[in-house]
Amino acid sequence: MPQDTNTISPELLAEALKASVDGIVIAECGENDFPIIFVNPAFERMTGYSAEEVIGKDCRFLNQRDRDQQELDVLRKAIQAQESCLVTLLNHKKSGEPFWNELSLSPVFDGNGKLTHYIGVQKDVTERVEKEQNIEERHQSLLSKKDELEELANRDPLTGLHNRRYFEQELSRLWAIHQRLDAIMAVAFIDIDSFKLYNDHYGHLEGDKALKAVADKISESFSRKADLVARFGGEEFVVVATLENGVDCFLQHLERLRQSILDLKIENKRSAVSDYITISTGVCYGVPPQGASSSLFTRDADVAMYQAKRTGRNRIEVVSYEPDEEAILKPAS
Ligand code: GH3
Ligand code: MG
Ligand code: MG
Repeated sequence: MPQDTNTISPELLAEALKASVDGIVIAECGENDFPIIFVNPAFERMTGYSAEEVIGKDCRFLNQRDRDQQELDVLRKAIQAQESCLVTLLNHKKSGEPFWNELSLSPVFDGNGKLTHYIGVQKDVTERVEKEQNIEERHQSLLSKKDELEELANRDPLTGLHNRRYFEQELSRLWAIHQRLDAIMAVAFIDIDSFKLYNDHYGHLEGDKALKAVADKISESFSRKADLVARFGGEEFVVVATLENGVDCFLQHLERLRQSILDLKIENKRSAVSDYITISTGVCYGVPPQGASSSLFTRDADVAMYQAKRTGRNRIEVVSYEPDEEAILKPAS
């Protein structure tokens, strides 16, 4: 016959509490707090405090050093509601050593339903919590490495600009948005003039430096969050912009960029256009036509750029898509 708990002798119960590997604390309901009336040997081993040292004290002395833990709120709410709870708290031993305490707290009521005691059963779960924390840290560090790698895969190493892969990906996203909103967007294709001659004359390393200086100027000119600047390949760059301030504003901005590249005064002795490095730019703008591929404006901006080359270099040519019309090639004003 199984024995009812009530029939177990107090000695046997005391032995059971003594033998428990979990720390056991019994506190009684005081006026303002819960003074401890009993702790078992496992509690003493876990915390380093002897029973004499803690009897009469409120249990909160264990988390005195860390009063802002979220789990303490769970504990406080449960105590207020006179309910049981399971929390994991960062506590400190008598020696000052921290440990993670998984505490299961249960209220005890008398025959009239009045709260009289709390029984706490606690486990030292430091090893488990630290393992979980290590896994979480490793997970976070892998996530940030993944972001870094993705960012690297989207960048051109020489100029630091976005690369063609990223450009094409972003362009198709922007293309779809502008198509849906019937909004005007522009693609500018920028090519350094007579750059082969520059390399031939000054060497490839100097060529790299000049390329970087031009790239910096372009990204400085189009640094708003909505602007997309990328190295398309070789000495060619692309800019994608929303024309919220109108096409004239965008073209004026490109004209200022053309001038500021010239103002860099990077000598290009063998260029037939100028004593310095210059750029030719082709622009295509309009509302992306329904059904058209996102490469349409890039292709036409490239065509416009070649027109700028044919007509003297160091200049801008523009193609526009008007609704229901073919692309129109017209020189920049
Ligand atoms: P155009 O005015 O018609 O554009 O003449 P161009 O000489 O600039 O054009 P071309 O296409 O004949 O030559 C482009 C040159 O750009 C050739 C290539 O050596 C150079 N180039 C491309 N990528 C790099 C690079 O990463 N570094 C350096 N230094 N040069 C590059
Ligand atoms: Mg080129
Ligand atoms: Mg060129």
